[in-house]
Amino acid sequence: MGGKRTAIVTGGSSGIGMAISRKMAENGVDVTILGRREKALQEAADQLGGDIHWIRADVTSPTDVETAVKSVVERTGVVDILINNAGASGAVTTQMPLGEAEKIWDEVIDVNLKSVFLMTVAAAPHLRRPGGRIVNISSIAAYTGGSSKGSLAYAAAKAGIHGLTFSAARELGGEGITVNAIAPGLIDRTRFFAGGVTEERLKQVSAQAAAGRVGLPEDIAAAVWYLVSPEASYVTGEILNVNGGWLFGR
Ligand code: NAP
Repeated sequence: MGGKRTAIVTGGSSGIGMAISRKMAENGVDVTILGRREKALQEAADQLGGDIHWIRADVTSPTDVETAVKSVVERTGVVDILINNAGASGAVTTQMPLGEAEKIWDEVIDVNLKSVFLMTVAAAPHLRRPGGRIVNISSIAAYTGGSSKGSLAYAAAKAGIHGLTFSAARELGGEGITVNAIAPGLIDRTRFFAGGVTEERLKQVSAQAAAGRVGLPEDIAAAVWYLVSPEASYVTGEILNVNGGWLFGR
């Protein structure tokens, strides 16, 4: 894998995606970040420096996804690394009227799961063979069902990412492409929890985690950096828990 590698990071303008983009840019990767908010993308690109490009794209839209991938490929010729990181929560509970629950279900499944499917199918023909890497960002909620009520759709979407990861690893493995997922625990300093994480919650999770603290976006970026390295070519179809030992053994 000589020369400069190229990457696409969905949701790269904030939180975990931004830390992943920073890690890669610092290590000489040409990174294109995708997201819906143009101003945030522009600001993140300015802050990150390095070889950072951005494209406004809603990853739930097949048209946006196709256009974005096409535009990256026109510029770079090949995609070495695809990081499917964009995602969002949305509360769906059994107490809701079905119509309301279904609407939020569809939104949560679209942004967390369908987006991974769309990006994977759009980018797959352009991934480097051999050497291509896909990393999907899942969640500890895929195993626990979420730590609060209302996680029906989110937990299902994230567990769905695991199935997709296994299947894509099988499909692309013969061409020298690895597909893995990372299941983060509680990661502070992102936009994920509207209004931030309460002090009480931070203390609670820190006490339950073997590492004695909550996670930071950089913890996930470090794990991604391993999975996209040439040395990780024999690791595929794996779900890597990065949760400080909040939950392990699966
Ligand atoms: P975040 O700061 O809110 O980042 C989410 C990113 O996704 C944003 O950059 C957002 O940008 C982008 N995004 C959302 N919807 C999109 C869409 N339809 N099209 C394109 N981009 C979209 O939160 P984060 O914590 O870094 O989350 C990153 C990933 O980690 C998510 O998949 C999340 O489920 C997962 N995760 C987070 C935690 C945690 O504790 N923070 C734990 C486990 C898993 P725009 O709004 O501009 O589109």
